Amino acid sequence: MHRITGLNVSQIRKDFPNLHVEVQGKPLVYLDNAATAFKPQTVIDAIAAHYRTETSNVHRGVHFLSEQATARFEQARDKVRDFIRARKSCEIVFTRGTTEAINLVAYSYGRHFLNKGDEIIISEMEHHSNIVPWQILCEEKGCVLKVIPFNDEGELDLEAFKRLVSPRTRFVSVVYISNSLGTINPIRKIIQTAHQCKAPVFIDAAQAVSHHKIDVQELDCDFLAFSGHKLFGPTGVGVLYGKEEFLEKMPPFHGGGDMISSVTFEKTTYNTLPYKFEAGTPHVAGVIGLGAAMDYVQSVGFEDMTAYEKELLDYGTKALSGIAGLRLIGTAKEKAAILSFIVSGIHAHDIGTLVNDEGVAIRTGHHCTQPVMRHFGIPATSRASLAFYNTKEEIDKLVEAVLKTKDVFR
Ligand code: PLP
Repeated sequence: MHRITGLNVSQIRKDFPNLHVEVQGKPLVYLDNAATAFKPQTVIDAIAAHYRTETSNVHRGVHFLSEQATARFEQARDKVRDFIRARKSCEIVFTRGTTEAINLVAYSYGRHFLNKGDEIIISEMEHHSNIVPWQILCEEKGCVLKVIPFNDEGELDLEAFKRLVSPRTRFVSVVYISNSLGTINPIRKIIQTAHQCKAPVFIDAAQAVSHHKIDVQELDCDFLAFSGHKLFGPTGVGVLYGKEEFLEKMPPFHGGGDMISSVTFEKTTYNTLPYKFEAGTPHVAGVIGLGAAMDYVQSVGFEDMTAYEKELLDYGTKALSGIAGLRLIGTAKEKAAILSFIVSGIHAHDIGTLVNDEGVAIRTGHHCTQPVMRHFGIPATSRASLAFYNTKEEIDKLVEAVLKTKDVFR
């Protein structure tokens, strides 16, 4: 039995049907959790129940099913509030995912409150989702994008950040955990430094949310976003957290149903928070599924989960480092269970294809972080990203598969 640091991993694995499929006639080894995570049966059941016997639209119906769906939908919002320790449920906006949440803030806050010459700071290790919306804004409004560099271990240069921050800094948006390097950034310090210059801070928690307990009040971030599908929940749903004082003064992002208070041809007034930012029919089943996913994660417990993932990370780091010609990309002291690597003389895509023949699923490419690849002067990495349902035996299979790949290319 895999029972380490309090987690009963064998038992946990039974909760995830997708872990038990075969690929190429071999048991699947799924190590692509940073791209999307598998869903426990409880999440699948919650979504199926909504479609099977509880289908209804929310907020605009008085019949039983609509009231029930609305109650479940709003319960999920309260669960998110508790999950990230927001002060109020009105600070939780449902979006399609992290990408939409960043676009929402860049569009609504950025276009309204930022002006020519204002500086926006991001980091060199951002996902494209946290680069492009700010670039679009800069082009439109004449703002200036500044970038915090990282060192060859993949750690942000905080001294450089302090030099970048000035009274011209009007917004800071950084990733909590890098999806291609695994670095856990010192976001508490970043937030404090930015706040000294009164710049609001957005935290991209797309990766962090499934590895760490998040407490937005303790962090004192002004915005934070994550996607349901990386938190063992459904695709197509995510969360934007924003401090009420910010959301309140921001104009709507999308116009349409649900986000209005009254509409006439002369003038439309907008709904209260959070509905002002939720135009149109939301992903009702997705939100309910996300609620079930958070219940599941909480039943496992972050403390045990984080400790177990650290064990997996240490094991995987040692095992992969033992392969001649393999170089780990991203060796920060503070790291989540993400192992990016290159092998000399073999393209990452070839590694991905050949380990797939052994049933091992990893991701290869630039991982939507082309500036990170440019930093290291490489086109791509192979990335194994682990979750609390992975095992050391699965890491062994990855190592065997990489060794086999090397044999093919010898
Ligand atoms: N930010 C980070 C750090 C990510 O890893 C990802 C997805 O991989 C995103 C943002 C975008 O998330 P989504 O595609 O779910 O919107």
